[in-house]
Amino acid sequence: MPRRLIQSLPRPSDNRIAIQLFPRAERAIARGHPWLFAHGIKRQRRAGEPGDLAVLFDRDDRFLAVGLYDPLSPIRVRVLQHGRQATIDRTWFAERIAHAWRRRAPLLEQSTTGFRVVNGANDGLPGVVIDRYSGTLVIKLYTHAWIPHLATVVECMREVLEPESIILRLNRRMQAKVEHLHGLSDGALLFGRAISGPTLFRENGLTFEADVLRGQKTGFFLDQRDNRLLVEGLSRRRSVLNVFSYTGGFSVYAARGGATEILSVDLSSRALNVARRNFQHNQSDKAVAAARHHVIRGDAFAILSDLHDEGRAFDVVIVDPPAFAKASSDVENAIRSYQMLVRQGLDVMNPGGILVAASCSSRIDAQSFARIVREAGGKAGRPLQLLDQTGHAIDHPISFPEGEYLTCVYATDAPG
Ligand code: SAH
Repeated sequence: MPRRLIQSLPRPSDNRIAIQLFPRAERAIARGHPWLFAHGIKRQRRAGEPGDLAVLFDRDDRFLAVGLYDPLSPIRVRVLQHGRQATIDRTWFAERIAHAWRRRAPLLEQSTTGFRVVNGANDGLPGVVIDRYSGTLVIKLYTHAWIPHLATVVECMREVLEPESIILRLNRRMQAKVEHLHGLSDGALLFGRAISGPTLFRENGLTFEADVLRGQKTGFFLDQRDNRLLVEGLSRRRSVLNVFSYTGGFSVYAARGGATEILSVDLSSRALNVARRNFQHNQSDKAVAAARHHVIRGDAFAILSDLHDEGRAFDVVIVDPPAFAKASSDVENAIRSYQMLVRQGLDVMNPGGILVAASCSSRIDAQSFARIVREAGGKAGRPLQLLDQTGHAIDHPISFPEGEYLTCVYATDAPG
């Protein structure tokens, strides 16, 4: 079945599309930016299909870059290679994947089998993410332009990464355009054994499960691994509140770190059920087995307010909400929401406790986020001292400004 599905996909065209750029777009591409927006196109030799190769030229007809064309997206071309011509074939894809894989080698030595293997444009493969959960690979596409190349990419993944299964995930924008999917669907099996039920994997020696078919992102928030480890180090003999817990990643680490009590809060009962099971998967660890873990399902803002009314307080408060600013028009509201969360978080934080506040909105940069947190502390009458601020983990490398989205602030109320 998977083979038939893949073989029925359209193949890439042999004819490249020549595109000349306006000066501003030309400068961005020449500097190495991976995206060409539709409005940056001055002249285009012919119309094209998703996945055609586009060759970008400057005003003097000098070669700039080659990339994947997508008439369905405002990002019209995603650059595969800058500066010199390339034959984009199986060898080229295999090399990019192998290079990305080599960058992640240190993780294997940390008892970690769940990590990002390819982080889109940051690994030279724009619009595609590949995550690994033990023997299962999940390839998530963000543009229809990858569909004609999927058969080749899957072959390369099999050759370089030797998985047992390969699962396809599609972002929402792609799922909405069914007529361009050629029979592909979110959660489809592309290779190997069918997946039913959760996929178990290791992270820093702990066992977690991911729902690779339906879970958020590709089933787990792999990008928070380093922060989870830091939280473990902060948790000894402390009570920990994990707001927006999803499947309890931070909570299990806090338990291993020796937390006296852990409360996970999330809107999704499915995620909280998984959080409970993630504790079960780690009962061989004495601290996890002894941990007192509770969950509350509901809206974070309402629950924080209830906890405050009940006079509850914790030593470590983690707030890791979904991206509040998805579009530039959301930024102001997002800032207000982040400030509100910090204030509400501090309402249930013991004096001298630690607030761990994360943002995954690429439109709010790390410096602004630190300012938002500090200002919210000031307004709450709990001036904050920033202990640390972290960015991206080794498997989430960043090579262009828009690729940067995650930041996490560690703060405590300054000694008064
Ligand atoms: N900290 C998690 C990832 C958080 S993702 C980890 O390390 O794995 C964001 C989570 O926020 C999702 O699980 C989503 O279900 C939850 N969520 C979204 N809106 C919410 C709300 N208003 N109240 C509570 N949880 C919410």
